[in-house]
Parts: sequence; C-alpha cells; structure tokens
Amino acid sequence: MKKFFAPDYYIRTYQDLDIERLKQHGIKVLVCDIDNTLVAHDVKSPDEGVKAFIQQVKDAGMQVVLVSNNVKERVDLFAKDLQVKTYPFARKPLKGTYRKMMKDSGCKKHEIAVLGDQLLTDMLGANRIGFYTILTNPVAKKDLTCTKINRVFENMVYKILKFQGKLVKGEYDE
Ligand SMILES: [Mg+2]
Repeated sequence: MKKFFAPDYYIRTYQDLDIERLKQHGIKVLVCDIDNTLVAHDVKSPDEGVKAFIQQVKDAGMQVVLVSNNVKERVDLFAKDLQVKTYPFARKPLKGTYRKMMKDSGCKKHEIAVLGDQLLTDMLGANRIGFYTILTNPVAKKDLTCTKINRVFENMVYKILKFQGKLVKGEYDE
C-alpha cells in the first residue's frame, strides 16, 4: 500500500540514526531537512554535533544534501562550511525539488533517503515520490508561524496514524 505520512524509520534525534541501516537499504544520498531536524529554526550555523554527523554519513560513502522550505540566505549561511549541495525554497511536499535531486545525483528513488521532522512536508513529499523516509522528533518546541499551522494538522495525522496502527508518537524504532 502506498504510504503518505508514515515514515519507514522513526528516530528520536538525527544522532540516533543508524547509518549502517541506511547502507543495508542501499541508500546513496541522505537528504536532510534543516529547521528543527538538525537545529532549531533560529540557529544560524551547524553545531559540532551536526558537523560530525554529516561527516559520518559522508565517511560511510553516502552523499549528504540539505533541503529546506526556508529562504536561500538561511540555507546558504547554514551550509557555508559543510561542502554539501543545497536545495532552498524546496516547496515540500511538492515533488519538484525531489525530482531535481534524482536528476542531479543520478540516483534512483529507492537510493535516496529523506530525514525530516514534519509529516505534512518532509514525509508526505518524500513518500509520494518513493524515497526512503526517516522521521525525527523536532529539535525545538518553537516553530515558524507557518509551521505552527502545519503542526495543528500534523497532530491530527498523528492521531489517525496511531488509530491505523502505523505510527505512535514517541515510540521510536531501534
Ligand atoms: Mg523542519
């Protein structure tokens, strides 16, 4: 059955990501959302933990790219020293940017994983195109205004997914 909101893999924080698991799934590109996935939306630069994480993924032989619905200035400043490709103003959950990633990387959809904190943007967009999806808890409780609205609907989706037995908030995968 086609998935829309439920992730393939659910973790508490990006630091819990099992990189070996991605390798076993044949993932070649890890697409990371920035705001509230790697850092809070008002944190301008990656901290040491984020830098180390990105390096670990690269060392495992995977490409890391950053994606955001946020503006180019925010994404460029964040990515300044990371040596990763960036996709600002991505308009998730629309598929355009994800399609572009496939073209740019030369990878097939099952070789690309998306790590994000939102069901309605990150998970929906990536599931629709057929990428491997990884949901993480948001880093901070604070959200941008538009995200706050999304969270209201997101909480409804969490309730539906729980009812369907597909996902329980806070019950992370090993
Ligand atoms: Mg986010």
